[in-house]
Amino acid sequence: MERALAENRLMSLNRRDFIVVPAATLATSLFAAAAPAVPWQRKIRRVGQTNMTEHDPAVLDVEQWADYWASLKVDAVLISVTGILAFYQTKVPYHRKGRFLGDRDFFGECCGAAKKRGLHVIARMSPDLNWEDAVEAHPEWFQRDAHGNAVHHTEDPRLFRTCMFTTYMTDYMPAIMREINSLYDVDGMFTNAWPPLGALPACYCEQCKNLPQPGTMDYWDKFNERTIYLWKLYDSIAKEKKPSNFYFANLGGGIRSTANLVKLGEVCEWFQCDNQGRGGDDTPIWGCALQGRVCHAVQEGKMATNVTGAWSTGTPRWRNVYKSRQEEQMWFNETLASGMAPYHHIIGGENGMGEDRRWLQPAREYFNWMARHDTHFANKRSIANLGVVMGQRTHLFYKPPRGTLMREYMDGMYYTLLEGRFLFDFVHEDKLAPEDLSQYTALVLPNTALLSEDQCQQLRAYVDAGGSLLATFETSMYTERNVPRSDFGLADVFGIRKAGDVVGTVGNAYLARIEKQHPILDGFSDTSWIPGAENRIPIAPVDGPVLTVVPGFVAYPPELSYPIQARTNEPAIVVRQKGKSRLIYFPGDIERTMWRSGHTDLARLLQNSIRWVAGAKPPVTIQGDGVIETFAWETQAGFAVHILNYTNPAMHRGWVRDFYPIGGQKVTMSLPQGRRVSRVELLRAETNIPFGGGSGTIEFTIPRVLDYEVAALYCA
Ligand SMILES: [Zn+2]
Repeated sequence: MERALAENRLMSLNRRDFIVVPAATLATSLFAAAAPAVPWQRKIRRVGQTNMTEHDPAVLDVEQWADYWASLKVDAVLISVTGILAFYQTKVPYHRKGRFLGDRDFFGECCGAAKKRGLHVIARMSPDLNWEDAVEAHPEWFQRDAHGNAVHHTEDPRLFRTCMFTTYMTDYMPAIMREINSLYDVDGMFTNAWPPLGALPACYCEQCKNLPQPGTMDYWDKFNERTIYLWKLYDSIAKEKKPSNFYFANLGGGIRSTANLVKLGEVCEWFQCDNQGRGGDDTPIWGCALQGRVCHAVQEGKMATNVTGAWSTGTPRWRNVYKSRQEEQMWFNETLASGMAPYHHIIGGENGMGEDRRWLQPAREYFNWMARHDTHFANKRSIANLGVVMGQRTHLFYKPPRGTLMREYMDGMYYTLLEGRFLFDFVHEDKLAPEDLSQYTALVLPNTALLSEDQCQQLRAYVDAGGSLLATFETSMYTERNVPRSDFGLADVFGIRKAGDVVGTVGNAYLARIEKQHPILDGFSDTSWIPGAENRIPIAPVDGPVLTVVPGFVAYPPELSYPIQARTNEPAIVVRQKGKSRLIYFPGDIERTMWRSGHTDLARLLQNSIRWVAGAKPPVTIQGDGVIETFAWETQAGFAVHILNYTNPAMHRGWVRDFYPIGGQKVTMSLPQGRRVSRVELLRAETNIPFGGGSGTIEFTIPRVLDYEVAALYCA
């Protein structure tokens, strides 16, 4: 199998300023005074957390707990203060002490044990729930349903949901934070369960009655304002302790994150992804790597961690039982490959460190392996030259055609890119300025329906400067406020014009008739047509179309399953070349249809098309068998090429329960001028391998990849 990756000139100006310098080196360096101060949280490589339960003061062995996390070489631990149940002798009203706390200072003991071992301590709080006595004393703190009733927690009806627009967040939580500052030597503060993940809140309390209707764009504005306001407030409280302290919160949710990630990225020091793992459902294997791409798109090289749940994620879940070791390991692999720091998360310390102790040793081995190779995981920049636009607004507000789900567009495009072995980054829709796009020769817009006039203008300027674009379906058919346009915002760029409303499928979807040969049709012989897509926007005829629409017809009965109209002049694709710029527009929801139908023609057509727009000189190519995901970074030590082996029966469903090795992967990589490779080491196999070239271009073959391999290139 021969597959090419996208091009990169390795001359990017978009260099990420992610410098990791061990503290000891700084202290002893003669030049330490001249070096820019690197905040401690940017030097973190590993994080650990035993998520404390109410019972832990009675059962957790604090010394064993601290020894365990120190043995994983973590840089920080999260210790529960909470807000739902206090783990210390609080004086804040309605901060209820846990049943097993007694007169102990459990938080203080844990904090002291961690500090004794040189670990940073993050105080963890949960502002999302409180008890009935608080509802009676402070009815204004709580979420209300449309009838005005306080909203119970769905699992434990003794708890009620608080509202983020109330004084719970500006009085109660700050009181706890300041109490912690007054009592303990903490290094940062974290809130779990706020901001909410995946869906915006819908509340009818007295405060929220003054807000726009939940679920609207106007509501989102207020939500973002409030989120940034609270974030800055909590950060300022954290800094009252010492200036190096900071606040961060629960994020994650992939592309469908609630807060505007670019705005939040300006104030967020640590992107904590609560993206703990898959269950038995059909979540694809790459969920964690996708999350890493989101962080990279918005974080400008700041700290990002992905919380990996050692516990049994999914439905039903078992919070206190270990999941499949291989599944957990693949999540760690994806965390590292995509540029985040791994975070091992276990729940509760029954019987010392848990009744189920199977989750202790595998993470210790993995984290210690990683610690031997830290300089290769300190990334300076991605060397991908293909950008995939992540339309956060589209994922939150766009209503796709009936019967379809927004995530299917990205799942389909993601799988297509992996199968085609493309090297790519995500690019956020709010980061399309020339300096954001300078490293990319092409951008892919998977049904990026919502785009502002300014964003369209930025894409137009990108094309005028020689950049290439591939877009699908309703891309640019809505403004950034989700208002439909009469024609595409990018109509002039692609040379297209809307000629009707979205056409769906009853029975047999439309076909794409081959009108003339083109590199995007490589591999299609002995056929006059290929599949179209499930939904399409009719567009006006163009000169010299490559594919035209054969309208759909019934699938049953077969007697009637033939085209009523065998030929039209409606384009099924529009292909243009404007100077250096190559442009492809698909009127169909081709990536989503590929995902739903599994049709290999659609994957091939998309891959050929992406390859054509991306250009002929990829920065890295990896040839070999198997379905892999790849990342390539410039690192502290040189370069690193990461290969995740997804060739596994659990790729699309369920947990990984075993690994299936793939054979030789031949890597060819362009090197920037002046960089010379002196050694190639496989970090998983912990062995050096031979290579050809070394300046200009380098070639080597990774003989075998079990679940994950990293080829570390040492540069002179
Ligand atoms: Zn409310």
